[in-house]
Amino acid sequence: MNPTILLVEDELDLVRTLEYNLQREGYVVRSATNGKAAVDFLSAGIAPDLVLLDLMLPDMSGTEICRRIRSQERTRKVPVIILTAKTEEIDRVVGFEVGADDYVTKPFSVRELVLRIRAILRRAHTEPTESGAPAQVFGRLRLDTEAHRVWVDDQEIHVTALEFRLMTTFMSRRGRVQTRETLLSDVWGIQADVTTRTVDTHVKRLREKLGTAGEYVETVRGVGYRWRSAPDAPNESD
Ligand code: CA
Repeated sequence: MNPTILLVEDELDLVRTLEYNLQREGYVVRSATNGKAAVDFLSAGIAPDLVLLDLMLPDMSGTEICRRIRSQERTRKVPVIILTAKTEEIDRVVGFEVGADDYVTKPFSVRELVLRIRAILRRAHTEPTESGAPAQVFGRLRLDTEAHRVWVDDQEIHVTALEFRLMTTFMSRRGRVQTRETLLSDVWGIQADVTTRTVDTHVKRLREKLGTAGEYVETVRGVGYRWRSAPDAPNESD
């Protein structure tokens, strides 16, 4: 079955371009050119496999729609990619406040968007079968790798599937520097020449969520990031 993508976008030229290109990639595309149409689609019938969501719509903000997606049981786990020209909003939008999975900034290349979509759908489809490993403990952090749940000092932290994957990737390579390019390739599944700022945005958000346990992720200036070799190891950040 071909994945269904709900495209929520009011720029008709962009809608046509994306419909054409995504259909050519084998996706079934449903388009909504305002917030009400999107909400109607999301509350009836089968949930889409992924949502492409413009932030600026004539009748409703994309962030409001994203919150609704996250609050409804039937759409809670549907991946959302934000399409936006407003780069200053990105941290908030992909953060826990709104809960989107990824974003592309306008103007974007269709090719880059398709790569992001493929990567996210691949993760969504492979994650359930990757589970089964026991809980991992690192200092004050505990991960249930089967249920994809995270606790810091016994307080549960809500992370997205991508953040969870980022954390487990880091932890499996603790003490070793990970370049942004490596992380993009291994966590996002993107091996293209796309912006590495994505990595910084998600690491920043992950650190915020982890609170003081966020110090386990160290910045290696000019290179990338490193998960501490041990919870109480001295901070080696540059
Ligand atoms: Ca718009």
